[in-house]
Amino acid sequence: MTHCLPVLVQTPAYSALAGPLRYHSAQPLPPGTLVRVPLGRRELLGVVWDRLDEAAEVDPEHIRPLAGVLEGLAPLPASWRQLVRFCADYYQRSPGEVALAALPPSLRSLTPVQIARRLRRQGAPAAAPPPAEPASPPLEPTSDQRQVMAQLAEGDGPFLLFGATGSGKTEVYLRCVERLLARDPQAQALVMVPEINLTPQLQARFVARFGASIVVTLHSGMTPAQRLTSWLAAHQGSARILLGTRMAVLAPLARLRLIVVDEEHDPSYKSQEGARYSARDLAVYRGRLEGAQVLLGSATPSLESWHHSRPAAEGGRYLRLDMPSRIGAAAALPGVRRIDMNHQPRHCLIAPPLLQAIAERVARGEQSMLLLNRRGYAPVLHCGDCGWKSDCPHCSAYRVFHKVDRSLRCHHCGLASAVPRSCPSCGNADIAPVGRGTERLEEHLGEQLANLRRPEGGAVRMARIDADSTRARGALEQQLAQVHAGEVDVLVGTQMVAKGHDFRRITLVAAINPDGALFSSDFRAPERLFALLMQAAGRAGRDAALSRQAEMWVQTFHPQHPLFEALRRYDYPGFAARQLQERAQAGMPPFAFQALLRAEAGTQESAQGFLEAARAVADTGLPHGQQAGITLYPAVPMTLQRIANVERAQILIESASRMALQRFLAAWQPLLHGLHDRPGQRGVRRWVIDVDPLLI
Ligand code: ADP
Ligand code: ZN
Ligand code: ZN
Repeated sequence: MTHCLPVLVQTPAYSALAGPLRYHSAQPLPPGTLVRVPLGRRELLGVVWDRLDEAAEVDPEHIRPLAGVLEGLAPLPASWRQLVRFCADYYQRSPGEVALAALPPSLRSLTPVQIARRLRRQGAPAAAPPPAEPASPPLEPTSDQRQVMAQLAEGDGPFLLFGATGSGKTEVYLRCVERLLARDPQAQALVMVPEINLTPQLQARFVARFGASIVVTLHSGMTPAQRLTSWLAAHQGSARILLGTRMAVLAPLARLRLIVVDEEHDPSYKSQEGARYSARDLAVYRGRLEGAQVLLGSATPSLESWHHSRPAAEGGRYLRLDMPSRIGAAAALPGVRRIDMNHQPRHCLIAPPLLQAIAERVARGEQSMLLLNRRGYAPVLHCGDCGWKSDCPHCSAYRVFHKVDRSLRCHHCGLASAVPRSCPSCGNADIAPVGRGTERLEEHLGEQLANLRRPEGGAVRMARIDADSTRARGALEQQLAQVHAGEVDVLVGTQMVAKGHDFRRITLVAAINPDGALFSSDFRAPERLFALLMQAAGRAGRDAALSRQAEMWVQTFHPQHPLFEALRRYDYPGFAARQLQERAQAGMPPFAFQALLRAEAGTQESAQGFLEAARAVADTGLPHGQQAGITLYPAVPMTLQRIANVERAQILIESASRMALQRFLAAWQPLLHGLHDRPGQRGVRRWVIDVDPLLI
């Protein structure tokens, strides 16, 4: 007798094959079993799904048998399947896409025999080692930490740990895991961090505390083989602690009891491709689903989480835990100095008083860190005679001048070419860089500080860390290690350097040109800038002996701006209250819920045409009342309207109710599939729905 099974496979996002497919199997297989199935002439990885009645109806004659079963691998648990289902529904994708994207890529390419061999090598799941003897003795908790630990022991959460940088949040995470494993040695903890480059330090602390045998990591910088190993350890339970980036939220952890989301405000928790999920938001859902405690931590929480953590009496859903003080003698955050650029020499890159302050640091053997959010030498080359600019022929953007290799590079489509000797339009030999990037800042500083001597007589040592300098594998780690080792006096970098790193000898942090975010069309830009500057300030003065001379400098044409006023007092609650008030008045998140429908096409007209048709079909094609409480805005070009010759446009969908928005999107999406296939809409190459978008 054969059994008919529903199986999820990775189906193209826009095909009608959104649900599970039907296959025959000689044995009954429980849901969650990983299998290989034929599809057309290919053989694919699949997951046996829960309900046959959700699978596409097929003529019984055409149902094909499974090609194989991944023996020895426990079925993915029901809670994992529910998480996938929720993620797919909420973010308007197919469950097959979400499920298969959540599995390590090697599972797709290895044969069942190869996987069985891997499993044998990795050891039986039952042989999970007992928690190792702590390799490093825990610290005596501070009073803040003690209080927070007591609150964590009592409540259910979710919790928002609001703690200054250096207040000992990581120590709290370590203790929570410790307490959990003491209570339940088989339990698992998921600890998420925003970016790969933050993982090494945190990983070192977890390994030092718990031993390497029960701590595994998962992030996109790992090789496929490493990812498979970690994933298997998580799934089989031999990993007690999974440290990872956003992808880790979808790892199967059958005994998950604790989820930590460090730097919960970080935009990198939101996926920008495939299912555009927020790993932070999924973590909160997952905690409830699997009975795991959820702990979000940040010195500058997202306004969404901050709003959720208002008092319960006012409708708050998270419990806020405060750790206001930094630990030890480095208790004080650096003093903030705003330089009014209106009173500095015109076009100066670095104001003379700031240059002076950096020079003093160098002479004392201390480090300085300069932040500039633009890589390359200059954002654009310009001909003063005819007005030519270094446009990218394929994008609505300029190509950036990189002096190191004298190239013009588009940061959006990657087009690179040599810098022309003269203006391509009029032949003028005198084309000039306009604006400044990290390369130029580094060069300029090098010139300005050339005659300066370090305490022992050597020349100033400069370094630059940005996406260009860290392209090679391991380059970032190496450069950071140099800064740590004190081999760098002045560090220039993009926001990459502001996060997480514990540079002990930095006593000066400077934001060179932060004004852009103050008047950006992106309503979240001030929130991101404030978080970045707070985080950068937290880098300074970590070394107790040096903390008193630590300073944070801000070069701005708007020194009185409320954002900088709040920064001066390190007043996140004040900043957040103001922002939330503005958002409430404007009816923006977190007081409204948003989604975007984005379309890409050869021309702007056809991209917008598709979107306008989508708007129209919402009026005509949906049951009466489905649109209640939903606002659909007109189609507009995206801020970056053209990338690699693809025109991009979007419409914003807004509602005061998350439920109403969800219901509307679920009803609307099938109509969009229909639209896409219609003759007039052939020009549209791609469309996508982004729920809770971060970048509008
Ligand atoms: P955060 O994660 O909030 O930035 P950390 O946990 O990294 O803070 O702590 C900052 C510094 O203080 C670290 O060097 C850490 O080792 C130290 N620290 C944390 N907790 C304690 C404690 N209870 N006693 C002494 N030092 C501590
Ligand atoms: Zn010219
Ligand atoms: Zn381009």
